[in-house]
Amino acid sequence: MTEATGIVGEFFSLKEGTDAELLAMQCGDFYEFFGEDAETVSDELDLKVSQKSSHGSSYPMAGVPLDDLTPYLKALVERGYRVAVADQYETESGHAREIQRVVTPGTLLETSDADAQYLAAVVDGGSGSDPRYGLAFADVTTGRFLVAEAADTDAALTELYRFDPVEVLPGPDSRTDDDLLGTVRERIDAALTLHETEAFAPKRAAHAVREQFGRETVERLSVGPEATAAAGAILAYVEETGAGVLASMTRIQAHHGDDHVTLDATTQRNLELTETMQGEREGSLFATIDHTETSAGGRLLKEWLQRPRRALETLEQRQESVAALSSAALERDEIQDTLDEAYDLARLASKATHGSADARDLLAVRETLAVLPALAETIDSTPNLADSPLAGIIDRPDRAAAADLREALEDAIADDPPSTVTQGELLQYGYDDDLDEVIDRHEEVKQWLDTLDEREKRQHGLSHVTVDRNKTDGYYIQVGKSAADGVPDHYEQVKTLKNSKRFTTDDLEEKEREILRLEEQRGELEYDLFEALRDDVAERAELLQDVGRALAAVDALASLATHAAENRWVKPGLHRGDALDIDQGRHPVVEQTTEFVPNDVRLDGEDRGFLVVTGPNMSGKSTYMRQVACIVLLAQIGSFVPAKEAEIGLVDGIFTRVGALDELAQGRSTFMVEMSELSNILHTATEESLVVLDEVGRGTATYDGISIAWAATEYLHNEVAAKTLFATHYHELTGLAENLPRVANVHVAADERDGDVTFLRAVRDGPTDRSYGIHVADLAGVPGPVVDRARDVLTRLREEKAIEAKGGDAGEPVQTVFDVGSGQFRGPANADGGETSTTGQTAEDHRSSGSERAGGSRSSSEASDGAPTDTAESDDIDPETEAVLDDLEELDVNATPPVELITKVQEWQEKLSE
Ligand code: ADP
Ligand code: MG
Repeated sequence: MTEATGIVGEFFSLKEGTDAELLAMQCGDFYEFFGEDAETVSDELDLKVSQKSSHGSSYPMAGVPLDDLTPYLKALVERGYRVAVADQYETESGHAREIQRVVTPGTLLETSDADAQYLAAVVDGGSGSDPRYGLAFADVTTGRFLVAEAADTDAALTELYRFDPVEVLPGPDSRTDDDLLGTVRERIDAALTLHETEAFAPKRAAHAVREQFGRETVERLSVGPEATAAAGAILAYVEETGAGVLASMTRIQAHHGDDHVTLDATTQRNLELTETMQGEREGSLFATIDHTETSAGGRLLKEWLQRPRRALETLEQRQESVAALSSAALERDEIQDTLDEAYDLARLASKATHGSADARDLLAVRETLAVLPALAETIDSTPNLADSPLAGIIDRPDRAAAADLREALEDAIADDPPSTVTQGELLQYGYDDDLDEVIDRHEEVKQWLDTLDEREKRQHGLSHVTVDRNKTDGYYIQVGKSAADGVPDHYEQVKTLKNSKRFTTDDLEEKEREILRLEEQRGELEYDLFEALRDDVAERAELLQDVGRALAAVDALASLATHAAENRWVKPGLHRGDALDIDQGRHPVVEQTTEFVPNDVRLDGEDRGFLVVTGPNMSGKSTYMRQVACIVLLAQIGSFVPAKEAEIGLVDGIFTRVGALDELAQGRSTFMVEMSELSNILHTATEESLVVLDEVGRGTATYDGISIAWAATEYLHNEVAAKTLFATHYHELTGLAENLPRVANVHVAADERDGDVTFLRAVRDGPTDRSYGIHVADLAGVPGPVVDRARDVLTRLREEKAIEAKGGDAGEPVQTVFDVGSGQFRGPANADGGETSTTGQTAEDHRSSGSERAGGSRSSSEASDGAPTDTAESDDIDPETEAVLDDLEELDVNATPPVELITKVQEWQEKLSE
């Protein structure tokens, strides 16, 4: 690049001093981008590029008008750019420019989105094998600031996923942590910013946190040095980017995982809490239950969903409010109408502290503060509501202080102020004596000017006279052409138009000078007064946040009540025991669009703590299990639930895992991921957790899958003792109910008549009795003769005792004999199911690993069944049987005509019965 001088040179030297990707530099009435920046911006935002020549070279240039920067800035930041903004200021020798802000996704104040906008920092303080994380989360638009701690990478990810930050600052040691950052990149749509490492230095960070929140507060928080470092780094970052909202961060809170139901990232996604698997908002649990009136209320409700609680008292309090509101329909309407008037106080407080609030914003503060007493009136005058915790919520903010501030604003802000703050008319008459004087004089002169046309007409007998002003001519008297010749001598002509002439007079010129002076005076005076007022408001940021929180809470509770009333949800009984008893439960989202068949769920701590859910494909297994998880989750945000009646034992965590096969269809997951998530559940779940496993193990070959499912079931049952629902198409697992005391079978019923399957969607006790693969083939339109033949083959294969009953005694499972899905016949001798191996050796290997994990308790005596067991060598099998097995392995079912297949089977049967 050639040496640029002048404006372009200034641009490049400013650009050099910032790590932002783009620079917007003020040049008079425009913000300009030069060079590559101009090209990037024009590509992204369709701006026109022109050329700016500077000392013989020419540079691309793109600009936006001063007042239009915000939407462009937002668009660029949303596309992932960090944008520096350099403002111009006057110096003695002309203009100078300086970077005032670097706007990043996490420090964007101009957001119009109602969602929380968290900036996060993660610090790893542990050693390599023993990580220990501290996290901090700040929303510059609302001043919310939280710290959290996590014992391992998964827990850290859980917190990150929960807050769903838009920008993440990894600490020095976390930058090489691929486990963490890889997942953040994949799962969270956040910009990763490498902020200077000194900001994370423990001493410096701790100092920053104490300065911001006060020494005592920080001590009371009692979080480790990692969380403090994360918090300090965020404060430094917010300060350095120039967002200027540190003052709105009035309090720091510790987010204790222990107070909340653990919801790992996968579970939040599986349950489609805030977006569907396809990434749509519509159809998520949040979108379904959200009837909030305000954006702050919506944010809070979403936060509740993402962070369900464990404490019975907290939940019962919310329930009481929801109950009171749901039974007071009229008052609820009234409350919601009132809330409709409310603006986002936390955001307004941030704007005030940043100095970007205009008079309309302060008007919004005033109007929103008036919502509080209005709500209080409705609540206090309705006995039902007055006796509920709602009354306490409304009383939590300092209402007297809020009323004072509202009155102060009522006396100050004009009723319909402009959006500019420099041109006056922001404030009310009577607010300030000096201002009143200026206003009086201003109004007087305006009055004089407003009536000038009438006076001139009268005095000089003129018709067609108007008085107006514009930029070039200033004030003028315009006289229609016909009358223009009759103007008095002291009229001085300034312009001739087609149908009229413009004049001025000495008097008019004097008034013009006066009015310009007064306008300037008024603008400056009002701006000064307004700024002082805005500073007053900024100083009450904490009060505004308190009031905002109270309004948001009422809004969120009213939303829960509305949804409950409109959808016949009921208040669940909550207790600390293990039992879960849901009478006629429904899936909260599916019931919106489907004639839903309600289902019961019964779990207790004793002999029914683990349900194996079987049933044909598409019968409703996944829906049933998600319904259970959603109902428990809703109960733990204090909501009513979709059921006829429910008694819910509180859980400390909800864990779900959907088998990789189901996820693979969406190109999301691999078997490796499935297993590492299963591992996470086995490590993290406790006996107070709810675990939902959906077709886990399905992502691998059949016998691998069964073995894993089997072993996981045993572990969950014996070691973890979590409340579990496990949907599986491995019919074999239903046998577990007989061995493990807390395991029970349920199945989703399907009705079969005349060979047709009707899904009843009804969940009943006991295992499903058959495989429905063939029915699915039928439904899919496979020709009738083939379906009939398949049925026939299946029946015969099943009847084939030698192959079917190889499990051993009654309590042992029956191994799959014919996999309709793959069209392969799979005996235990070919457990892997993949190749058709003919050597006994390979088959034995698979067999033994499979059943060891599966049953674990077989003895060689069971080999008398004629089946190979883990201790049996292949030469234990009599040659006849072996011949059949070999034959069997070699047979290609797909390539053999059904008739031949039947003949073969009959042949084997005869051989074996010999
Ligand atoms: P599975 O997991 O057994 O294959 P799904 O749970 O995916 O079955 O359900 C299949 C379909 O049936 C879905 O479209 C779902 O909306 C519908 N469905 C499931 N349960 C019910 C129910 N109780 N009432 C009505 N429709 C249901
Ligand atoms: Mg399913």
